Amino acid sequence: MYYDSNTGLNKMKRYYFDQPTTDKFVEFLMTQAEVIAPQKKGDASYSYEVVTSGKDIVYDYPRTIQPLKKYFLPPRETLLSFDSKNNEFKKTDIALNNRIFFAIHSYEMQGIKRLDYSFTQGNPEFNYLQRRENSIFIGISFNPDKWHFTKSVGISIEEVERFSLYFEPVDNGFLVFEVDDTGKELISKFGNGLSLDASMDFEVREKEFKTKIKYHYNRLPQVFEHVYNSKVWSDIAQKCVGCGTCNLLCPTCYCFDVRDEVELEISKGKRERFWDGCMLNEFAEVAGGENFREKLSSRTRHRLHRKFKYITDHSGELHCVGCGRCTKYCPANISIVEIINNLIEEYSDHQKEQII
Ligand code: SF4
Ligand code: SF4
Repeated sequence: MYYDSNTGLNKMKRYYFDQPTTDKFVEFLMTQAEVIAPQKKGDASYSYEVVTSGKDIVYDYPRTIQPLKKYFLPPRETLLSFDSKNNEFKKTDIALNNRIFFAIHSYEMQGIKRLDYSFTQGNPEFNYLQRRENSIFIGISFNPDKWHFTKSVGISIEEVERFSLYFEPVDNGFLVFEVDDTGKELISKFGNGLSLDASMDFEVREKEFKTKIKYHYNRLPQVFEHVYNSKVWSDIAQKCVGCGTCNLLCPTCYCFDVRDEVELEISKGKRERFWDGCMLNEFAEVAGGENFREKLSSRTRHRLHRKFKYITDHSGELHCVGCGRCTKYCPANISIVEIINNLIEEYSDHQKEQII
């Protein structure tokens, strides 16, 4: 048992919600905004969905299949419709509901933070930023399974950055921490007349991650400076089938393609955008058929450099948040942590040779 003073939780005002109070709190949230939370999908999978009944919310879940980004960057959306005969076009209106994202894990929130960075560089991405407005996030703790490695990329389970409230499960309920003023306001509106203050001491048990990167995360960009020509890339390419699942399920991948769909009578149509990924064969293909990353080895190398080097050099943060989706759902059982650890080994051998 260990008391974690690094989480910052010990400095925050806290409340105790038993399960009936938590159910009432969800009902209250639903009166404030559209509530989105993890729900069961099939026997063993989870998905973020709009809550119609608090009973559908799953509080203890490993991860959802798709990341939360689907609410800000939909897998497919119509950007505009056009009528070339009349020389007209109309942009699609973005619905601006107030939304509360409830029971969200720290790595997911950090994924949104990285998307915020990517979509505010250069030309800010209007549709994404519109959807990001009026969003409140409420976090919850999680138990790492064999695919999570958030700690190895510098994200603790109890990282509360950008949450308004944070739920830590305790016996028969939750300790609820007030993280920011929005959270304070929610508690004050909900708790009017209720006795919710938690006087009990609390301890956050350190949860063990089964999957770990061998080096401290600060050293990873340095490793990536030396492994561009590594043999590891071609080893992985022998197993990879280029399906793109690892891109499409990644909370920090944001690439998309834009295509015009024209109606049969040719003058009318719509411009659509949909998720794309650098592991897919046609991603780097240009007019004339030239493909700049035809080989699977160069595609994997590019994907990993985007997570651990290229964007990190600008943003100062790794753009992998350790959710483990790319490994769990890879049909070829390719593990991102194994790739990194193999690269580290090669790098470390190389460094030793230099000394000798
Ligand atoms: S999910 Fe696996 S098989 Fe599919 S592209 Fe990614 S690494 Fe290759
Ligand atoms: S690279 Fe893999 S583990 Fe890292 S954030 Fe993306 S899906 Fe998650």
